[in-house]
Parts: sequence; structure tokens; C-alpha cells
Amino acid sequence: MRHYKAGTVKFISVMGQWWRVVWEPLGHDGLHGQLIIDTKIIKINSYDNAEQQAATLLHELFHAILFTSGQGFDLESGTEEALVRALEHGLAPVVKIIGLEDE
Ligand SMILES: [Zn+2]
Repeated sequence: MRHYKAGTVKFISVMGQWWRVVWEPLGHDGLHGQLIIDTKIIKINSYDNAEQQAATLLHELFHAILFTSGQGFDLESGTEEALVRALEHGLAPVVKIIGLEDE
């Protein structure tokens, strides 16, 4: 698993739609990431460690998948967050083993 520094930019396709993933300082107050739907940008906190950054990327991608597929429109925001967190926490150990990208 790799730690990404501020200024890193990657593009990830979610069901054929490209999302820009940017790592930038989001403070030390527990904000790990942000999803900006209008511009299809995912922000990941560059202050977080590699493990948290990977979990956050998964988390925000699940939101992007629910939005892109239309399923998110059928969920109350609390329900969506609960579902996304369950998937994130369930799959985080897998990502820890296989990593998101070669070092
Ligand atoms: Zn969320």
C-alpha cells in the first residue's frame, strides 16, 4: 500500500465516467475525503496514512458508484452512508492484503 502526497492526481473510471482523484491537505480534524459530484472530483486527505487513504478512496468510490448507477437516488443519505461504511470496512482488509497499486 502506498502513501500519496499532496498534489498527486489520478483518474479512475466508474462505470465509464472518469473521476479525478486528488490528494490534498484536508486538515487534521477527521475529514478523510470529499466527493464533489458536480465536477466528479474525489479529494483524499494527504495528511492521512496510506491505510486510511486507501480506505477513504474505497469509501468515496462507493459513493461514486451509487451516484453513477442511480442507486444513490433511492437511498436516504443516512442509509447511503451506512451502506458505504459497511462496504468500506468490509473490504479494507482485502485492500490491505492486495494493495491498490504496486509500490
Ligand atoms: Zn461517506
